[in-house]
Amino acid sequence: MLGSTGSVGRQTLDVLRLERERFDLVAIAAGERLDELADVAREFGVARVGVKSEAHRAKLAEILSGVDIVVGEEGLGELARDADVVVNAVTGFAGLPVTLGALAAGKRLALANKESLVAAAPLVATVRETPGAELLPVDSEHCALHQCLASSPAAAGYPDVERILLTASGGPFRGWSKEQLRSASKADALHHPTWSMGEKITIDSSTLMNKGLEVLEASALFGIEATRVEVVVHPQSIVHSMVEYVDGSVLAQLSQPDMRLPIAYCLGLPERLAHHWGALDFAAGLTLTFEEPDRAAFPALDLAYEAGRLGGAAPAWLSAANEIAVGAFLADEIRWVDVVGVVKATMDQFVAGPVTSVAELRAEDARARRVALSLLDR
Ligand code: MG
Repeated sequence: MLGSTGSVGRQTLDVLRLERERFDLVAIAAGERLDELADVAREFGVARVGVKSEAHRAKLAEILSGVDIVVGEEGLGELARDADVVVNAVTGFAGLPVTLGALAAGKRLALANKESLVAAAPLVATVRETPGAELLPVDSEHCALHQCLASSPAAAGYPDVERILLTASGGPFRGWSKEQLRSASKADALHHPTWSMGEKITIDSSTLMNKGLEVLEASALFGIEATRVEVVVHPQSIVHSMVEYVDGSVLAQLSQPDMRLPIAYCLGLPERLAHHWGALDFAAGLTLTFEEPDRAAFPALDLAYEAGRLGGAAPAWLSAANEIAVGAFLADEIRWVDVVGVVKATMDQFVAGPVTSVAELRAEDARARRVALSLLDR
């Protein structure tokens, strides 16, 4: 379980606390909150812990004994080898070694880190071929799609699927005009109407960049072109996504918005874990509404489709520029309205190049970050 002190990490631990008979937690890692990391290690009797630096190793060793501590990105990739199932809940591109390491080691990867898949889609496609490797999406929409696509022939490229309907809550700014969005504040942006999540993804939800990345994530996960993935705004966050088949039949997955459900699905498959996190009370009445996203007010969506069309390193650039822009926004350096502006200006400087190795991908990621930072005058 890597990214143990973040939102998905904590909710994974909630699942594991209820399933002690079924699962052993063998390794954890986090980039911050060392006290919490040590508490988790003690609670679950974890054998190996990953931290990001030698300084963190020294600090952790002072408060936690009897565990093997590994350091840095290479250490993260190594931790995957000890487990049958690896939960990747690291934030951002930093999750790449976990994604590649777990799949290359032939493990089941429960992926909550969409950035690594979006940026490294061609590389992930290769390591997914490793015998035993299995990629399951923790992301609620994609977990829904995994369930809705279960009866369709994946190996043949889902020929009977007309389109994927990826639902979006619309975030805290649904219905805001372009004009109103100019004065959107950090407090507004961090206040998600239906989901409780980490800061980075909450900001991404407010700009709809999260949905843009999820279009690319769905395309990479299921091998379905991004043009067959459509976004539908569904403010209640009850329908987590839908698949429309060529006969017009639509399959949907419905549940309460609770991340423990997709986490448990990925851990338990082919079995379902018996906890009623997602249960809906139909007797109490349930109103579900759907609408088109406002693409003019939220240009992140079109940027994502364009990155998908360009392919190669374009999705990696999109995601990297977005990480820089969101970081600057959270540090109060730019306005909300400038977040996607920085991403767009970065993409305007994108030059197509191949991504056939991790080294090339890292170079492209670094290049995009440099461009984004230069736009921030840094
Ligand atoms: Mg999602």
